Amino acid sequence: MSSLPSCPACSSEYTYQDGSLIICPECGHEWVPGGDSPADLDAETVKDANGNVLQDGDTVSVIKDLKVKGSSSVLKIGTRVKNIRLVDGDHNIDCKIDGFGAMKLKSEFVKKI
Ligand SMILES: [Zn+2]
Repeated sequence: MSSLPSCPACSSEYTYQDGSLIICPECGHEWVPGGDSPADLDAETVKDANGNVLQDGDTVSVIKDLKVKGSSSVLKIGTRVKNIRLVDGDHNIDCKIDGFGAMKLKSEFVKKI
């Protein structure tokens, strides 16, 4: 009966409109019809483990020991990584680390300093 879209988060049909937002009363999801949903925006923004937005040139520290691909060394928790560069992909941080060289990290395993 309603022309409103179902909730993309829980598929509920009982959505309602509030201004430019569509709101799902079942799970609390809110989004803009036809536009970027908050989830889409998240995908374009790289965030660290604490949810802080990361940018090119930021300095971060590693929050857990990480195995370095193709070597037996481990990137220790607390390692500082300077001047990161954000890239697309599963490993979304491009960086150079003293003693390791150029490598890629996942943003979920670092925090902004
Ligand atoms: Zn929902």
